[in-house]
Amino acid sequence: MARIEKFALHIPSLEEIAGVLQNGLTENYADVQVSVVDCPDLTQKPFCFPVKGICGKTRIADVGGVPYLLPLVQKDKVYDLNVVAKEIQLPGAFFLGAGAVSSRTVGGNAELIPIVQAQNENNPAINGSYMVKINPEDSGYLLEKYSTKHHGCDFGLLANLYASEGLPGKVIEVKANRRTGEQNFISCIRKALEKHYGDKPVGMGGTFVIQKGKAKIHVMPSEFSACPLNTDEDVNNWLKFFEMKAPLICQPVLVSRDPGFDLRLEHTHCFSHHGDGGHYHTDTTPETVEYLGYFAPAEYLFRIDKPQETHMVGRD
Ligand SMILES: [Zn+2]
Repeated sequence: MARIEKFALHIPSLEEIAGVLQNGLTENYADVQVSVVDCPDLTQKPFCFPVKGICGKTRIADVGGVPYLLPLVQKDKVYDLNVVAKEIQLPGAFFLGAGAVSSRTVGGNAELIPIVQAQNENNPAINGSYMVKINPEDSGYLLEKYSTKHHGCDFGLLANLYASEGLPGKVIEVKANRRTGEQNFISCIRKALEKHYGDKPVGMGGTFVIQKGKAKIHVMPSEFSACPLNTDEDVNNWLKFFEMKAPLICQPVLVSRDPGFDLRLEHTHCFSHHGDGGHYHTDTTPETVEYLGYFAPAEYLFRIDKPQETHMVGRD
């Protein structure tokens, strides 16, 4: 089995995707407005990214996987975003997404919110990532800028990444307010794409802001579980769940359907400017929640270091 597999995703026009999402989200939100716009300048608040946009040579990378975390951790699974950028044929790529830190580097387990412009021939990497860890003393959580504590661009175990040249350009703007259904924002988008495009997988990434309300967020403990986590119930008892406050800036990666690469189909991590952050499950305030997102379709999917032995536990 190749360590790196490449797949050409289906790439509909932005206008066509906007129509599909307008229909799909209307089933789950009271107010929905999807349109094609110029990407806002993402160097500005609340994003403060190192690049202006999410356009140009778009890719999705699914690296490693939950089977390296569960049932027992494999701490030797360490990756580097500068290397991943080359592996996806985009040196200097700008990455957004959801992953785990390298426990070797950080000294414990933690959620990673990758926001990285990888190094290129002329410039060093810019690491704007955040990490969130559990404080073992009080079981609270701590959000930190990764680069204030650590050097380099490595991560561990797994990551779902959206990569681009970080350029301005046309994107799909999604506004959805007041949730009327059960699905979270990204599941609803993914399922709308799956329903419309069927066995032609569409991948998307970008960023969205939960502007009002609260959300259910988990943070992995600093210590890996010493006993095997064999079921979703085991995993949920190990994870720490919190209700966190808007505004939360979320980085989603999604693929509408798995074309056979043992993918995690949706994964979203978030940060904030008030100390909240982690792995997004859903909002907890359906009557007041307001989402505003910017998405672009990916041209290619790369599957890197797919686990040989797999399972479906812990993919929520
Ligand atoms: Zn996660």
